[in-house]
Amino acid sequence: MQRYSYKRMIEEAEASLILSDREPRIASLLLEDLFGIDRVYLMLHEEEEVPGERHGIFEKAVARAAAGEPYQYVTGFSWFYGYKMEVDENTLIPRNETEELVEFVLEQEPDDGRTVADIGTGTGAIGLLLQKHWHKNRVVLTDVSSGALEMAGKNAEALGVSPEIFRGSLFEPLTDRGIMADCIVSNPPYIAYDEKDDMDASVYRHEPHLALFADDGGMALYKQMVDGLPTVLKPGGTVYFEIGWRQYTALSTYIKKVWPKTRPQLKKDMNGQDRILFFRWED
Ligand code: SAM
Ligand code: GLN
Repeated sequence: MQRYSYKRMIEEAEASLILSDREPRIASLLLEDLFGIDRVYLMLHEEEEVPGERHGIFEKAVARAAAGEPYQYVTGFSWFYGYKMEVDENTLIPRNETEELVEFVLEQEPDDGRTVADIGTGTGAIGLLLQKHWHKNRVVLTDVSSGALEMAGKNAEALGVSPEIFRGSLFEPLTDRGIMADCIVSNPPYIAYDEKDDMDASVYRHEPHLALFADDGGMALYKQMVDGLPTVLKPGGTVYFEIGWRQYTALSTYIKKVWPKTRPQLKKDMNGQDRILFFRWED
């Protein structure tokens, strides 16, 4: 059997990823995440021989990534806000932009025993991290996908938090139980079907379409939630939506039309793109 150093193994993986039009840095991300080793370890040990079984595991993983699968589905987890979130084909891979939403909500909302609902929780990324940082607030997670909620349950256990987790479409799980929240947070599917050609092929082919696409130019779920606020949100309660970079004007116009006393606000993400629309709801 051939002798493989970490260095050689990464170089070969990078070459095969480049040939498949994938980002070469996926090679070291895979190596780090599959075997739990960090960059510094790799630098110090790059000339060392890789145990045979690691080489086989790594080659198979690289082949999947080269074929277009997001590397987080290959390793089975993604880093989010400093924590490991398990992911699978039923869940969107939580994005960096969404970490900014978690951070913003933590800055804005006090931990005083309020009820906060994360609608369309997927892996649980937003709601679980909020619950992890709060001691008094009650967090409710919902999703229409039972596969996603199974994953959110596993992630809750791994993080050592126990929020309430309910299945159902948008606000249904709350209205069914008579839950009135002080705050609604949601990163719903918001991509228009006709944006499909602009998307990364790996996202389109592998991530759940239920998590990505929405009718009405991507606006359908926001509009349903805006219309339904009186059924689930206490007057004066707050709403935080993650939005697509071109959606602020249309969505804020819609919100002001339905709730004329409400003043939507915008927060951009670290790339300077429109990303969070938030408001205090006044009916
Ligand atoms: N909150 C997670 C995050 O930020 O990483 C996942 C966001 S993903 C963009 C949208 C999520 O909404 C998916 O988990 C999807 O299953 C869920 N979803 C789609 N339609 C829904 C609906 N009608 N009611 C509730 N959840 C829905
Ligand atoms: N931001 C994600 C993407 O562009 C989509 C998430 C969403 O639709 N809410 O891939």
